[in-house]
Amino acid sequence: MSAAARTAAIQLIARKSPVAVTLSTKPLPELFGANVFGLEQMRTALPESAWKALRSCMEHGQALDHALADQVANAMKEWAVERGATHFTHWFQPMTGSTAEKHDSFASIENGKLMMEFSGKALIKGEPDASSFPSGGLRATFEARGYTAWDPTSPAFLRETTNGSTLCIPTAFCSWTGEALDEKTPLLRSTEALNREAMRLLRLLGDDKVQFVYPTLGCEQEYFLIDRDLWFLRPDLIATGRTLFGAKPPKGQELEDHYFGSIAPRVLAFMQESELELWKLGVPVKTRHNEVAPSQYELAPIFERTTIAVDHNMLCMEVLKQVATKHGFHCLLHEKPYAGINGSGKHNNWSMATDTGENLLEPGKSPEQNMRFMVMLAAVMRAVDTHADLLRTTIAHAGNDHRLGANEAPPAILSIYLGEQLTDVVDALIAGTKGGSERKRDTMRLGVSVLPPLPRDATDRNRTSPFAFTGNKFEFRAVGSSQACGKPNTVLNTIVADALAWIATEIEKGKAQKGLEAAINEVVVELFKKHQRILFNGNGYSAEWHAEAAKRGLPNFRNAVDAIANFGTKKNVDLFERFAVLSSKEVDSRMSIMFEGYCKAIAIEGQSALSIARTMILPAAQRSQGVVAQSLAATKACGIDVKVQEKRLRDLSGRIESFVLAIEDLTAQFEHAEHHAGSVGEHAKTYRDKVVPAMAKLRELADGIETMVDDSEWPLPKYREILFLQ
Ligand code: ADP
Ligand code: MG
Repeated sequence: MSAAARTAAIQLIARKSPVAVTLSTKPLPELFGANVFGLEQMRTALPESAWKALRSCMEHGQALDHALADQVANAMKEWAVERGATHFTHWFQPMTGSTAEKHDSFASIENGKLMMEFSGKALIKGEPDASSFPSGGLRATFEARGYTAWDPTSPAFLRETTNGSTLCIPTAFCSWTGEALDEKTPLLRSTEALNREAMRLLRLLGDDKVQFVYPTLGCEQEYFLIDRDLWFLRPDLIATGRTLFGAKPPKGQELEDHYFGSIAPRVLAFMQESELELWKLGVPVKTRHNEVAPSQYELAPIFERTTIAVDHNMLCMEVLKQVATKHGFHCLLHEKPYAGINGSGKHNNWSMATDTGENLLEPGKSPEQNMRFMVMLAAVMRAVDTHADLLRTTIAHAGNDHRLGANEAPPAILSIYLGEQLTDVVDALIAGTKGGSERKRDTMRLGVSVLPPLPRDATDRNRTSPFAFTGNKFEFRAVGSSQACGKPNTVLNTIVADALAWIATEIEKGKAQKGLEAAINEVVVELFKKHQRILFNGNGYSAEWHAEAAKRGLPNFRNAVDAIANFGTKKNVDLFERFAVLSSKEVDSRMSIMFEGYCKAIAIEGQSALSIARTMILPAAQRSQGVVAQSLAATKACGIDVKVQEKRLRDLSGRIESFVLAIEDLTAQFEHAEHHAGSVGEHAKTYRDKVVPAMAKLRELADGIETMVDDSEWPLPKYREILFLQ
């Protein structure tokens, strides 16, 4: 790799044009979900009696009997084979942050003939070797087996690739001893907990129609694209997903001309093909646009039931990466691929819906709905304030450390933005009980008054809040772009279930003495008072807010390592156990995995930074230094004064000296961290306190050197190229 490779890549890019998509002739409504074998398809494919039995099993969470499983499996196989599938796989979400699959063909040999077969047993249960997935100590290698179990709530789908198709069956992944080894199982459990507690409360509020409640999720996905020819020349991007070096370009995002700008033709072609793929997979992607930073984009779907939306977001990330390759791009999902310009998040829009089609966070039009809404709002306030520490852990990883708290993303302090009007309502309710005027008390009593219409337009949006109410849902903005959103949603569901349970108990207690309405009113106002401190409508980036939040006693876990340590506190273990979402063993294992993940991410970055520094940057800098030194010596020999140039050479040489020292320091810190004994949490602290600062120092020096070295010597594509050449 040399500077010549950089030039060659740029020449290639100059000649690239948009890749044509083979558009289907089918209209979009027909195309949508064409590769999904969901409830509708099962209903069509199965005999009436089998369909009814399957429905009943799914509704009551019962296991399928063998005969029924065989029927379902056979229908699924017929459907898949008709569409060119040769293989199936259980598709699951181990605790790696991505998905896993092990393909198995439908082939079986009978009397020397190949038959396509798929048994109920193979549909329902898989037995992949679990020993190479993170388990956080849950599974020793001698009990390596794990199993995947079909999750019939999420439809099977077909992944089409150039040379064939594979039937993917969404599954949960557990150890033989029954512990969850994935992100899906706790999510399903938390969904049940939320349903249970929300139903209990709704009944108490007098609702007798709703039969079940489920969380909803719409996750906006931000990402960067980089031309693949340049990506290949950046070993840091290849190994870590972010650039470990790179001087600030002359132009970044300061002109604000990229956000919502017209989409470049090659990029649009990529987006169109990605959307086409996703539509076929039943993923309801809806919006596309240029984001704030150059080369940054966003795609947002229409929200769905959370368990499905999480699967769909996993698919979305996979499809973006795969389609990008076809279009000569690489898709960067990292939270912070480039220093000094915006990072990427995944705004997690969360709400609760009922089987009767209502959104529980929709401010009501009638006094009853209005009361229900205020109860739900109070629940979310209690949940986030009581469990801010836990919610913070769900977004804690090395990548997000570059984003959270930096001056361009939500702060690491969790607070809730309600917007002015809703805050006024909350304030008035609190004031009412403090002896405000009779009239005010009257108008603001829950269950009597109707809320003023709340604006839902963009002007009322505060982009700096990590947790914002946006009209009829909460937007948890601190989630990182590369994250699987299983964990944040598991925790959101659980902490809200906890708050709903608490509210129900309090209302039950108060009802006998005061009557239902007064009891509800009292609980809601009490919660508003108690948790008012979590509300903040101002600028979350400001230094004043940090001081104010500290005064209010809101926790501020500035980095992943501090945040992760809270996952396993007694309060949080009790919470998870109370709602049967995670056992204490599962909590411990997950906390270890988070710490390990942090250590591994920093270790790979450290290794990568060292190798680039030693073998690419240092040689380029020394070559440049040598050429200048020779030139100056020759010029001086002619009797010409080169004092100013010598000063510059001294500057460069000084920087190279410091750079070599920084390499030595990082090497030492890295070795220290590698051989550090102690708990995994201590290990993570060492990486954070020793390796991260040494890497930052190394980068600072390298970026300075980049601005001085002959451009034709520089081996790494520069920011000005990566960010603007497409
Ligand atoms: P913005 O970028 O202004 O936040 P978008 O329209 O890009 O707005 O994203 C809003 C997201 O919120 C979409 O994915 C949308 O489907 C989702 N959403 C809307 N209503 C709900 C809801 N009730 N529950 C969950 N998500 C929702
Ligand atoms: Mg948003």
